[in-house]
Amino acid sequence: MATFIVLLGPPGVGKGTQARILSETSKLAHVSSGDLFRENFKNETELGKLAKSFMDKGELVPDDVTINMIRERISRPDCQAGAILDGFPRTPAQADALEKMLAEFGGEVGFVPYITAEESVLVERASGRWTCRAQGHIYHEKFNPPKQVGICDVDGSDLYQRDDDKVETVTKRIRVYLEQTTPLVEYYRKAGKLVEIDGSQAVDQVTAKLLAVLKK
Ligand code: AMP
Repeated sequence: MATFIVLLGPPGVGKGTQARILSETSKLAHVSSGDLFRENFKNETELGKLAKSFMDKGELVPDDVTINMIRERISRPDCQAGAILDGFPRTPAQADALEKMLAEFGGEVGFVPYITAEESVLVERASGRWTCRAQGHIYHEKFNPPKQVGICDVDGSDLYQRDDDKVETVTKRIRVYLEQTTPLVEYYRKAGKLVEIDGSQAVDQVTAKLLAVLKK
């Protein structure tokens, strides 16, 4: 049966960074709802323009739009064995929709790493983040700087700062997360799938914990 790993945690905790590493190690596809919205915006689709209007305010994109986008994405062949879900689900309605999709596709949520850190750490991480324009590789100006300022180590494309990584917007995103996404922590804890991981540690320490859980 296809296994889906749901990465839960506040904005700036390092879900995207860890999801990329886990995807390379496990060979499961990396499905990031935020990356999909940003890709749509870059390609000037209607979905992208709609999403951007919510993202810039630090708000969530409406459930129906988000669910349809993810449904289409995880029905593709590269998700046949499962995927690492990064940023989805973010509301109880999305979690219910995911259960239904997986029941239909013959998959299940395997485990749910819940990565946490204090708000001051989250704001510092997000506001120092630089993202690669071509493929979304993630850097931090202090904790994980690129070899050459402004250039991605992996593909040489330029790095940019996300509009929604400004301090005020990050603070709003954290508030939205506390209101709308934290109910999922209890949802997955009750299902016996939650694994709590301290996200304030260095990237490779968090990765080591995740890989240890994945092996089990
Ligand atoms: P992220 O890249 O995960 O930090 O997401 C950036 C932004 O994309 C969020 O602040 C939301 O506006 C939007 N977004 C990403 N995933 C979702 C989701 N599952 N539901 C609603 N909005 C989302």
